[in-house]
Amino acid sequence: MGIYETTLEIDLRALTHNFQFLKSKLQPKTKFMAVVKAFGYGSDAIEIAKHLESLEVDYFAVAYTSEGMALRDAGIETPIMVLHPLPIHFDEIIERCLEPSLYNAKTLKGFIEVAKKHAQKDYPIHIKFNTGLNRLGFWENDVEYIIEKLKATSSVKVLSILSHLAASEDLTERSFTQHQIGTFKKIASEFERKVGYEVKMHQCNTSGILNYPEAHFDMVRSGIGLYGFGNDPKFDDHLRPIASLKSVISQIHTIEPGETVGYNRAYKAPYFQRTATIPVGHADGISRIYGNEKGWVMIKGKKAPIIGNVCMDMIMVNITDIDCKEGDEVVIFGKGSSANALAENAGTISYELITSVSQRVKRTVLR
Ligand SMILES: *Cc1c(COP(=O)(O)O)cnc(C)c1O
Repeated sequence: MGIYETTLEIDLRALTHNFQFLKSKLQPKTKFMAVVKAFGYGSDAIEIAKHLESLEVDYFAVAYTSEGMALRDAGIETPIMVLHPLPIHFDEIIERCLEPSLYNAKTLKGFIEVAKKHAQKDYPIHIKFNTGLNRLGFWENDVEYIIEKLKATSSVKVLSILSHLAASEDLTERSFTQHQIGTFKKIASEFERKVGYEVKMHQCNTSGILNYPEAHFDMVRSGIGLYGFGNDPKFDDHLRPIASLKSVISQIHTIEPGETVGYNRAYKAPYFQRTATIPVGHADGISRIYGNEKGWVMIKGKKAPIIGNVCMDMIMVNITDIDCKEGDEVVIFGKGSSANALAENAGTISYELITSVSQRVKRTVLR
């Protein structure tokens, strides 16, 4: 397939591979929750979710209610957990059969009221505990309070409790992570004993799956691994990036020594050179941090550094040593050019680079 404009190619075969690789790390009884927030980490949440549904994934997770609603609009029937529901959306959560992860007294009380208003019985909810990330979640000593609220209503029922690891990819933080796992186990056993029915538990993200098999529990929540990154070269080798951001050369210039390129004349040519202009800019997700040779694109398998400042709709690259012409394909990241290496060289992480690809960029799907 030829590339004639900036395009994000989404390879569903790579997604199948990553899903199966991650599943191979789990016990057969452990369920798999696929995290498809942020447009499927910048790809296309609906394509990703439909494909994973066909592979019989157990659960989806999104960050916000609107993301879950978009999946329901597209016909997704698998259960969907909303990681960070806000009270203003509680009616929509119930109307669209989404399952909230409730994280404090305000959301628990508020959701119980809304479930009651909608005449729900045993509406499925999840309870999030903070075990050290200090981001969202009840504290260990809130269990008593939560149980009291639950015992006073039949409108909701807890399907699972969850927590999130702060540093699962960083093995120098192993003892902190083990402490988080221990705390979560303690909370889970107290919770189940007091609530009086079986409650599932889950704590691992992708790096948790790969580094802490003892913490897989009843379910795991994987995002970045499905999209092809293991936060560690030894796992990256087993995963395949599902998204490739590609573009074309719009125009080539030959410039003389001393001439400058781009806004604010940020690049000054030290010698005669050839530059290529590519139709992708910060409005497409290539942040200005990649300018001034912090970032590059691949043309004919060779690195072409980004010179000068990244513009809104364009970048200019140095192609002096590359035999290429207008209309040739350019790979910004993906197959053949690691998003990890590009992100890290500019001081960020693959998560940020891949989730930044804006909605202006055309998506195509390889099946
Ligand atoms: C985003 C998110 C995940 C997925 O993490 P990855 O590192 O992408 O696998 C899991 N759990 C929670 C609570 C999240 O916010």
